[in-house]
Amino acid sequence: MSKDYYKTLGIEKNANQDEIKRAFRKLAHKYHPDKPDGDEAKFKECNEAYQVLGNEQKRQQYDQFGSSFDQQGGFGGGMGWEDFMSQARQGGGGASFDFGDIGDIFGDVFGFGRNSRRQAKGADIQIDLQISFKDSVFGVDQTVELYKATKCSKCNGNGAEPGTPIEECKTCNGQGKIKKIQKTFLGAIQTATTCQDCHGEGKKAKTPCGKCAGTGISNEKERIEIKVPAGIEADSTLRMSGKGNAAPKGGIAGDLYVRIFVKQDSEFLRKGNDIVKFEKISFKQAALGDKLDVKTLDGEISLKVPAGTQPNTKFRLKGKGVPYLNSSGRGDLYIQVEVEVPTKLNKEQKKALESFS
Ligand SMILES: [Zn+2]
Ligand SMILES: [Zn+2]
Repeated sequence: MSKDYYKTLGIEKNANQDEIKRAFRKLAHKYHPDKPDGDEAKFKECNEAYQVLGNEQKRQQYDQFGSSFDQQGGFGGGMGWEDFMSQARQGGGGASFDFGDIGDIFGDVFGFGRNSRRQAKGADIQIDLQISFKDSVFGVDQTVELYKATKCSKCNGNGAEPGTPIEECKTCNGQGKIKKIQKTFLGAIQTATTCQDCHGEGKKAKTPCGKCAGTGISNEKERIEIKVPAGIEADSTLRMSGKGNAAPKGGIAGDLYVRIFVKQDSEFLRKGNDIVKFEKISFKQAALGDKLDVKTLDGEISLKVPAGTQPNTKFRLKGKGVPYLNSSGRGDLYIQVEVEVPTKLNKEQKKALESFS
């Protein structure tokens, strides 16, 4: 049985490697058995063709023997087709294949192979932070001390006892990963797993650091400054990227989540971005009018209460409320007056009031 690999891939005899790759990729997508119109037999044929044509050396041999090479009794030194393919699949012997390239192709097409290594990530941490009402309005910088997995202070995170060298990892020869050829129905596929010895770094300390045992991380107290933005709402959570637990070498640190609790204030009440403050005035002040000294978050102000002010009247102080979190400007402050009705009156006062009606 003769096999025309060029025909299989639908390309010209003089196609270059790019064209071969492209053709294979297209057909591999089309015939992949996981696809609804997949065709395993055709998929295998394309794979076989690509394994030969996608390799310059093998392609030359194939071109020399043409599509009738198996009828001529073999490949090179008397090897039959099956021998050739079986050696090729195992990546050994005379038929030496560039499996790295095949791994690349399959990695690209099917999402495995090249980028199979997942980066280690440190655990996230969640803490609670209580702040005052005023700090929630204007923002505040708070420093907290956390006992957490952090970059080892003795070796500065490189895992080596200070003054000792870092060497190439012998387990993976500095590659950081261990390559394996797996036999699947697609033929031979190369997979790479992260070297457990060096965690994918390709190098490791000759003498591991005594404090962190070579991991580069140790449990230490760390001071972290938390910038609470002006206008933050109660029960919201700040995410501080990379401030969680450190990961072993080569990994990325987790995140720190800070949940903000705002203490209730006895004077101020937040309503959206506005603030309401209740201010008691006397019956006389309400009736005759007065100037009040009112404490606000921005300091004391003078508020003119006109004569005849009704209970629960609100006076608006523009722009003295809560800052908008993600834009400029502030809400408003409302001073709401509560009129105190006198409970004890002497005779003259009673008389004076009765003259009203
Ligand atoms: Zn250390
Ligand atoms: Zn290694």
